[in-house]
Amino acid sequence: MHQQIINGIEAGEFHLVYQPQMFADGSRMAAVEALVRWNHPTRGPLGPADFTDVAERSGAIVELGAFVLKQACLDALNWPGIGVAVNISAIQLHDPHFAEVVEATIRDTGLPFNRIELEIVESALIENFNVAIASIDHLRALGVKIALDDFGTGFSSLTYLRKLPLDKLKIDKSFVDGAGMIQSAAIIQAVVALARALGMKVTAEGVETEEQQRFLRACGCHYLQGYLFSKPVCARAITEKLSTPRRVA
Ligand code: C2E
Ligand code: CA
Ligand code: CA
Repeated sequence: MHQQIINGIEAGEFHLVYQPQMFADGSRMAAVEALVRWNHPTRGPLGPADFTDVAERSGAIVELGAFVLKQACLDALNWPGIGVAVNISAIQLHDPHFAEVVEATIRDTGLPFNRIELEIVESALIENFNVAIASIDHLRALGVKIALDDFGTGFSSLTYLRKLPLDKLKIDKSFVDGAGMIQSAAIIQAVVALARALGMKVTAEGVETEEQQRFLRACGCHYLQGYLFSKPVCARAITEKLSTPRRVA
């Protein structure tokens, strides 16, 4: 599938959809998260679950990641004041030249560095911590923000929070789903308190109900993302939502 992915990028078979990340009161979009899709010539529309594992194993994720970052920056030029979050795979983060490549890509598009946020997962930090931290330091010095994605699903080692300069934690959907249960609710409250004490922002993902929104807002989450506000949509739909700010949902 490696060559299919590389050829598919060339042939324009990949595109991005964007999911709004709302201020916790739901009034406005703060940012969007770019999520990759593949219109496969024979298999039809595919989501990341269908191809990111293979892309990571074959190394094609490097080319795919470069495409995603560039396209997300170009689209974000149409959305002044809105941040754009891009998912970064462990494989990309382990490349010692990662930060230089990201810097050059963002610079070429002309998007201000402080409008980009890279979402990384904890497992990407476990191996090769020193390479990852050097890249993160390099990019943060330019103003790029770093979010720790799926927080709570891995080891959630506090070491990373202590040693890594992070801007944001994203609380995984599995905790949000269970927010009605005392255990999940307690964990969410503790994670928000910890993040706030460390000067980080918090986004909760997978928010599907108003009840979840009320709880997460009361807990002090800064941003919320989920089907309650919007599914991932095409770039043009984001432009339209932004031009009618009172009707973003
Ligand atoms: P993620 O980064 O945790 O992204 C959130 C996923 O949850 C997205 O699935 C999104 O469509 C889905 N989602 C958002 N809100 C809700 C909700 O309220 N309910 C439910 N049930 N689902 C919700 P998607 O687009 O299928 O992406 C899956 C994963 O694939 C992402 O998880 C991310 O880890 C990875 N991914 C997506 N795009 C890229 C990319 O460009 N590069 C890399 N390396 N990974 C990507
Ligand atoms: Ca993500
Ligand atoms: Ca996530």
